[in-house]
Amino acid sequence: MLLKSYSKEILRPECNPGFESVHCIAHLEQDISAVLPYLNAVLGGFEYLKDPPAVIFRSQGKLITVHGDKIAINALRDEDEADKILEWLQREINEAWENREDIEPSYEGAPKPKLIEILKLLPKTNCKECGEPTCMVFAARMAEGAKGPKDCPPLGVENKRRLEEYMSQFKFDP
Ligand code: SF4
Repeated sequence: MLLKSYSKEILRPECNPGFESVHCIAHLEQDISAVLPYLNAVLGGFEYLKDPPAVIFRSQGKLITVHGDKIAINALRDEDEADKILEWLQREINEAWENREDIEPSYEGAPKPKLIEILKLLPKTNCKECGEPTCMVFAARMAEGAKGPKDCPPLGVENKRRLEEYMSQFKFDP
């Protein structure tokens, strides 16, 4: 087992302590740098940083960054949610390490959707029905995986189908 233990720190943003979401940093008691390219290969990280190594995942509006000595997670509902994500990551880290001989390590982030490809299928009326100020902002949110074709109410059937097909090539949730 590579990652045996960690200590968890729960933080509230200092600029707005009343803000509902919390951040979590898990300080790892073992250095897991060596597993990061394998973890990235298995879970399809959104981004992979080489020096120092870190892999970034985006999942359900959260940003999860796994470093060699710590894991940072933002936009959590509460401590319970932090515990569930950390337990899941610990399992994934240890499985990737145990199976590393069968995994091709990856030093790149997963392919990302192109903002322009999304934008050209949107109505481009800036009607704000999606809650975003412009179609461009909506397209950027979709490229990050935070929005989907269903979130643009005026989108026609054919373009919705094409956008769903385009977006289905990309993986957002580990
Ligand atoms: S709802 Fe669709 S058309 Fe309207 S601003 Fe949002 S992305 Fe653009």
